Parts: sequence; structure tokens; C-alpha cells
Amino acid sequence: MTRPARSSHAPDTLGRAEDWQDKALCRTVVVDPEAFFPTGRAAAGQQQIDDAKTFCMSCPVRMACALAALTGGYDNGVWGALDEVQRRRILRTDSDDRRQAIRDEWARLRFDPHFDAYAKRTEQEDNGHVRWLMKSTSVTVLGRNWTPAQLALTISQRRPPQGAVKTTCGRPGCVAPEHVADDVVRRSRGRTQKAAA
Ligand code: SF4
Ligand SMILES: [Zn+2]
Repeated sequence: MTRPARSSHAPDTLGRAEDWQDKALCRTVVVDPEAFFPTGRAAAGQQQIDDAKTFCMSCPVRMACALAALTGGYDNGVWGALDEVQRRRILRTDSDDRRQAIRDEWARLRFDPHFDAYAKRTEQEDNGHVRWLMKSTSVTVLGRNWTPAQLALTISQRRPPQGAVKTTCGRPGCVAPEHVADDVVRRSRGRTQKAAA
């Protein structure tokens, strides 16, 4: 089987209703089914693969989905945060423990597209400061535009920023993740300072 039909946003991985499919993230959130079938491994296709895997890693039934794709012999697409290369690698191994093999593949994935975008465009400087290398001060990640400081805050706090993100270290333009703060970080630091006073 190369590509099972998807009649809705959710994968129909077994061709019949299964309880776990009701919990599929791609069934409860509106997504384009084509997003799971990248068109190639050039830069744009690779980005699409990474985005689909990132999405799947938030799915509560990704293990069942990955197992179903392995059992069903799906050749194409991202299922359970694994692409076809990873599925072939698992199928080639002698291991009886497919669940562990899937977990091992997950561990190799890069799950942070924000960090990827940030790392490619920054340079470490002295005293922990970080410089943004690009002329452009906006970068698109997962379909949204980010300033360098917003990316840095997202990396350090593991959440999107709230309010204005400002450099706090005094070095103009520094975007070290630990040297930027949004409203939430500023409020938290204010409370800590009051408590210490
Ligand atoms: S792991 Fe991905 S493809 Fe599979 S059900 Fe979840 S969101 Fe859909
Ligand atoms: Zn700094």
C-alpha cells in the first residue's frame, strides 16, 4: 500500500474505525491532509516533513498511528511523527520491540523549528550575548512571522511571547535567549525582586 485514502483531516490508517483515531490530533484540529505528504526532500519538502512531525509529536495517539503505518506498510507520508525513511529503518531492524524502535526514532527528531530558525541566523558573542546575523528582522516559522527577540524568548520559555519582547542585558540588539524578557518574565522578575527586598 502506498498511500491510504484520507476522507477527512484524520488519517484512516487502518481503513476502519478504531478508538484511538477519535483522539487523533489531525481529526480534532483542522489541518490540510496534504500537509502530511510532503512533495520531496528539497528544502521546502524537508521543512514540510519537519512541520508535520512537530505536529504529530503533540498527538496523544502517535504511537498507535506509527504502529498502524508500520503494520499497514504505508510507503508515503508522515504518520505518528515518522517519515517513510524512518519506517523503512524500523522495518529493516530485527528488533521485536517496535514500540522501542519507534521511541528511538522519535528521539532522533528535531522538534524545535524555532530553534532551527534561530540557530541558522545567529552568532554567539562574548559574555553570553548573541548577535542576529541577517538584515531581515522577521522570519517565518510554522506559518507565523517572528522577530529575533520573539524567537529567543520562545526558545528560553518554551512558549510564545506575551507583550513586547525586550533585550535586558544592555547590549543593543542582543538576542541571547536568557537576555530577553516579555511581560510574563518581567512580572515574574518583579515579584522575585519584591520578595527579596
Ligand atoms: S500522529 Fe499525526 S498523523 Fe497520526 S493521528 Fe496523530 S496527528 Fe494524525
Ligand atoms: Zn546579551
